Amino acid sequence: MTRLGSYTHDNQLQHGWTMKNNTSRRAVLQSLIASAIIIGFDVSNRIWVTSASATSRFESLPPLDGVLYTDNTKLAAVSDDFGHIVHRQPIAVLEPGSISDIIRIIQFVRTYKIKIAARGQGHSTYGQSQVEAGVVINISTLNKIHSIVADRAIVDAGVVWSKLLQQTLPHSLTPPVLTDYIELSIGGTLSVGGIGGATHRYGVQIDNVLEVQVVTGEGKLETCSKFQNRDLFEAVLGGLGQCGIIVQATIKLIAAATNTRVFLLFYDDLATFTRDQRLLISDQRFNYEDA
Ligand SMILES: Cc1cc2nc3c(=O)[nH]c(=O)nc-3n(C[C@H](O)[C@H](O)[C@H](O)COP(=O)(O)OP(=O)(O)OC[C@H]3O[C@@H](n4cnc5c(N)ncnc54)[C@H](O)[C@@H]3O)c2cc1C
Repeated sequence: MTRLGSYTHDNQLQHGWTMKNNTSRRAVLQSLIASAIIIGFDVSNRIWVTSASATSRFESLPPLDGVLYTDNTKLAAVSDDFGHIVHRQPIAVLEPGSISDIIRIIQFVRTYKIKIAARGQGHSTYGQSQVEAGVVINISTLNKIHSIVADRAIVDAGVVWSKLLQQTLPHSLTPPVLTDYIELSIGGTLSVGGIGGATHRYGVQIDNVLEVQVVTGEGKLETCSKFQNRDLFEAVLGGLGQCGIIVQATIKLIAAATNTRVFLLFYDDLATFTRDQRLLISDQRFNYEDA
């Protein structure tokens, strides 16, 4: 496993050696790990450089709070998605430990024209979160809920909707619109729109975003909303990951229903079903409609 940044004791123990002398064992392991840590990028050969392989000239990587992986297991995991149709192999995967990591890596790789792709839960179906010979930024490691107040929640883009809902419901609050499947990342669905059973009332998920923090292709952190950097705000929401990386979002919250009555209607012809669905939507009687 080749990686840059902090490393864990568990990983150091994966080798399973049986040396009696703990001190020498630790010293050997530490030197092995140190020699495997990426320290730079060899621009002419376009390969990562570890301290063990550092023979020619290379550009030093910035220090990271998270980890940059180049091992086959990590690369393979992000070379696939929910569709299993498209497979693109990157040259590294960043699991950021902070927003600064994303800024540092974007600033570094853009100098060498290495492409990047953001990835949330990888539930898109046609390679949207993959990049050939580039760096995948796996946002799922940025997954903190920063605050929940009466009308809004501030969350990292890697938080999944189910986790946000678990935190808001005890306050009798909910995001106005949820996707039917809620194990998707907030950054991932804000990049595609996010449609759900309450959309006929509240719009899509991106209609319910008050502010986003975005790292641009130049590696700059921007705050944007309807009132600040509006062009970027509108480009990045529903922007399919092409207009910047959403790292944090302020999501609108509304009062959650305390009781629910569910009606199940069964149809055996499509025309009647779609006619009734349009009727129910225009009627606005129900706050959730799903097919
Ligand atoms: C079982 C299932 C059920 C679904 N149900 C619904 C549904 O009810 N309603 C609905 O609208 N959609 C639904 N979808 C589609 C889903 O919303 C999209 O595929 C969404 O992009 C998945 O989120 P993700 O976290 O997996 O994103 P990924 O697949 O990881 O990424 C999707 C796109 O967003 C980009 N991206 C990811 N994170 C960021 C970020 N932080 N900043 C910028 N760009 C980013 C990626 O580069 C990629 O282009 C469903 C998909 C599945 C597989």
